[in-house]
Amino acid sequence: MAKKDYYEILGVSKDASTDDIKKAYKDLVKKWHPDLHPENKEEAEAKFKEIHEAYEVLSDPQKRAQYDRFGYVGQPQENVGGASGQPFNQEDLFGGFEDIFNMFFGQGMRREENVSRSLRGEDIYLTIQIDVRDVLYGAEKEIEYTRYETCQACHGTGAKDGTSFKTCPKCHGTGVVRVQQRTFFGVVTTQTTCDMCGGSGKIITEKCPVCGGRGKVIVKKKIKVRIPPGVDDGGRLRVPNGGHAGDNGGPYGDLFVILRVRDIPGIKREGRDVYSEVDIDFAQAALGTEIEIDGLEGKEILSIPAGTQPNTILKLRGKGFPSPNGGPRGDHIVKVNVVIPKRLSKDQEELLRRYAEISHTGVNSKKHGFFR
Ligand SMILES: [Zn+2]
Ligand SMILES: [Zn+2]
Repeated sequence: MAKKDYYEILGVSKDASTDDIKKAYKDLVKKWHPDLHPENKEEAEAKFKEIHEAYEVLSDPQKRAQYDRFGYVGQPQENVGGASGQPFNQEDLFGGFEDIFNMFFGQGMRREENVSRSLRGEDIYLTIQIDVRDVLYGAEKEIEYTRYETCQACHGTGAKDGTSFKTCPKCHGTGVVRVQQRTFFGVVTTQTTCDMCGGSGKIITEKCPVCGGRGKVIVKKKIKVRIPPGVDDGGRLRVPNGGHAGDNGGPYGDLFVILRVRDIPGIKREGRDVYSEVDIDFAQAALGTEIEIDGLEGKEILSIPAGTQPNTILKLRGKGFPSPNGGPRGDHIVKVNVVIPKRLSKDQEELLRRYAEISHTGVNSKKHGFFR
């Protein structure tokens, strides 16, 4: 994916508020909507798409934070069998625009009906749990789910054998009817979907017995997805065409696999680095030691140098997570708590009193009963 400066595209500063971003987006989509630039439609479309892409990232706090940190958003999208790598499709884009358009101008200003005869299938969202190891090294997972697929018996037409139709008398098989409308943008001739045949141009005379005329059947599907190393908790993988079948032979929707990374108690992740805390006693802090702590891959040895102070930060280099962009793994950062004992045995107390004596530091005398 080419690196783009989303802030520059929207013409806002890096610290712009969500409202500023929304306003900039609103102004820009009005300016660059492809229908307003019939003479250089291609350029306007590219520009419009770019604006939409920038807005989608910067208006979402999580995506924006990821973009600020990594300079891009999303995981490398790989799926077994080949991904298109296309970040948007027309339906998403213009569907999104329509929503925004209606939000700003109200339903009354809606100026164009969807003229497509076929409708793209719905997306499917699936959440799966993955382990820390999967994030460290990447993994391939088999996923089972159900979805609508195009009925093979009627080729998605809903008509028996795919042939039991007659031509729609209202649109004469074109699936669309033309309408002239006076709108906000002037007089516009639009095509609308024929209501009699639903845009297919044909009327079914006998329904397909396999799918009952729906053109779609429920199918249990098994696929493999590759999880790239370094994915975030909540990250998602897109499997193009993994969603439901469309209507009237429309394309499949996408499957989004949302990844939930199982926690390791006591370990917190922040980007590539992970954080935890450990308690040691003051003898260990003063004399130094090696202790075992919980790491991402089981036990790790942490060296405590002699003279370690409370709240010292120690690092296990390369024991964090990898970055989705590659490069070395992050670090495991450990905060060391030096714990002062609340109770002492007789021997311990005696030794500490001796210690205080040699160090010439005053302590409470025994009769105060401070320690017992
Ligand atoms: Zn069928
Ligand atoms: Zn029709």
